[in-house]
Amino acid sequence: MRSLAIYPGSFDPVTYGHIDIIKRALRLTEYLIVAVASNIEKMPMFSLKERIFMLRQATKGLKGVTVDSFNGLAVDYVKAKSASVMIRGLRMISDFEYEFQMALTNRKLSPKIETIFMMPSEEYSYVSSKLIKEAASLGADISSFVPEFVQKAVRRKLKK
Ligand code: ADP
Repeated sequence: MRSLAIYPGSFDPVTYGHIDIIKRALRLTEYLIVAVASNIEKMPMFSLKERIFMLRQATKGLKGVTVDSFNGLAVDYVKAKSASVMIRGLRMISDFEYEFQMALTNRKLSPKIETIFMMPSEEYSYVSSKLIKEAASLGADISSFVPEFVQKAVRRKLKK
């Protein structure tokens, strides 16, 4: 059977941290769907369409990766795709509590779905979409954290 895993998230916008996790996940699974959440609590900087577009661009050369979106619960999307594995990234200890809580809630909702946590390369272990948006708004150079086209897109948004 072909293996398929789902990597859900907001990806607002995609960073080198996300890309690192995607590449690592491809060592475990033949196919990976990066699933962009359309209903996120916080007001996103990028529309769903823009987030998908940037992810497609960032994963263009990666075999087995597709980018899709979902509405509602990630576990329902995983089930709809007949998959049973969800990938999440763990940066710092600070991610742990939230991710642990969510994984256990998801397990209660859907006992057959397993969450696999992956650690990024050290150099990206502190990179977050939220922080790079804040840093960019204060004039920081974010080129070490996101691909160039993302950096340009963030700059364009901040000018508006
Ligand atoms: P969320 O889904 O919580 O809105 P994101 O879209 O930013 O968060 O991230 C999706 C997933 O990728 C989450 O599991 C998050 O912890 C993980 N992630 C984000 N940035 C990194 C990074 N730099 N290294 C490893 N994992 C990351």
